[in-house]
Amino acid sequence: MRKTTASKPKKKTIKKAVKILSRARKKTAQPRPVKTKAAPSYSTFQLLRGMKDILPSEAPYWQFLQKKIEELAEHFGYQFIETPILEKRDLFIRGVGRQTDIVEKEMYVFTDPGGENVCLRPEATASIARAYIEHGMLNLPQPVKLYYFGLMFRHDRPQAGRLRQFHQAGFEALGSDHSVIDAELIAAAFTFFRDIGISASIQLNSIGCASCRETFKSELITYYRSKKSLLCQNCRDRLARNPLRLLDCKEPGCEIVKEAAPQVLNFLDEACQGHFFKVVEYLDELGLPYSVNPFLVRGLDYYNRTVFEIWPDKKEAEEGQRDKEEEEREGKSPAQASLGGGGRYDGLVELLGGKQTPAVGFAIGLERVISQMKEQGLPSPKPASPQVFIAQLGEPAKRKALKLCGLLAGQIKAAAALSKDSLKAQLEIANRLDVRFAVIIGQKEVMDETVIVRDMEAGVQEIIPYKKIAQDLKRRLGLT
Ligand code: AMP
Repeated sequence: MRKTTASKPKKKTIKKAVKILSRARKKTAQPRPVKTKAAPSYSTFQLLRGMKDILPSEAPYWQFLQKKIEELAEHFGYQFIETPILEKRDLFIRGVGRQTDIVEKEMYVFTDPGGENVCLRPEATASIARAYIEHGMLNLPQPVKLYYFGLMFRHDRPQAGRLRQFHQAGFEALGSDHSVIDAELIAAAFTFFRDIGISASIQLNSIGCASCRETFKSELITYYRSKKSLLCQNCRDRLARNPLRLLDCKEPGCEIVKEAAPQVLNFLDEACQGHFFKVVEYLDELGLPYSVNPFLVRGLDYYNRTVFEIWPDKKEAEEGQRDKEEEEREGKSPAQASLGGGGRYDGLVELLGGKQTPAVGFAIGLERVISQMKEQGLPSPKPASPQVFIAQLGEPAKRKALKLCGLLAGQIKAAAALSKDSLKAQLEIANRLDVRFAVIIGQKEVMDETVIVRDMEAGVQEIIPYKKIAQDLKRRLGLT
């Protein structure tokens, strides 16, 4: 039998065909699917301990408090000042005191890229005193009355009412040693709480001047030394370093020791006594509810003479239910629950290199105020609501509505939901926002250069020329 080439291809031909085929496959073949990496799963971030986000749901509280503080400042003649959050570390070491808890344990201190030792301010009084000196405010009519609103930082153990970043609003009057300024300031603090509806009372004391305090301190040390075995470890340390702070301790054993401790009011010299009696007289005249608290000393070294704190009143039921231990567990001892505090600091300006300038001030802790408003069941402040809602139907109307939002800015508070297409959905939003008027723009209104104004309460609507809309809305809202 004759062998045919067709039935048995030559080896060479096969090789060639394979080569051609594989070349063709290479040309036409789909690219091999690239192995996609599984989407990386990133870890999330949480807030640092002791920090807090203020979410939009809480915004009405903050707007309300800011407004109240501004009104209070205007009423009592205080002017706004803002100092930086970052200051030289030594400002507080010298101002607040090296042996205070704030400086010893709580400051966020670091070296900045330029090699400067800086810190996040733990309080603002020292900064205000620095600004008073630096900007020559001594040459202004005295007292110079300033208020501020801002963030403070203390790296303390976070617990209820104690954050590492928190807001204070503060009032400082520099340049007068008259008791009437102390009384006016205490009245301003009390008015703030009364106006927002928090029931609170004033704790008042005088810690005298440096020389009264020296005599008092040595009596205090003698007394506490005799009771050393009954004290907590912290108080044993305080005995040597910061004896006034012994009176702040909330340990049950130390509280008992405190009951019989010497009282600073018995050590005031004539001038300090006279100053304190005057403050008390003015407060009596004003009918303010204060209690003299002989153990109130405050934790900052710059204070002298008048010191005070504002404490929330406890509901009777609450008082009956809770014993001290329970409060301690919750971190709500009165010292921690104070809503605000302050006092005189007649030596601070001089200590920071300025001329001797008597001064007095106080600060309110705003996070604690908000918690207290909730705790006392006060109605939550209403969010600032828009006055009108702009609704649109169709693309040309959307453009017109976008323009109208800009046109009304600064004249009328207007809301819109421009990304929505359904008129029904938009009017539902307008209803939810509780606006009195809705402005509606459709295809026809764009062509006619008009808008529809709908009275959401009465349910009636009217066609208005586009050009007259701002004027018309102002008239309807009683703004003209
Ligand atoms: P002080 O500057 O220590 O006199 O505090 C004044 C007020 O600021 C206090 O009465 C509190 O309301 C508030 N405050 C102080 N420290 C904190 C903190 N760590 N967290 C929240 N509020 C604070």
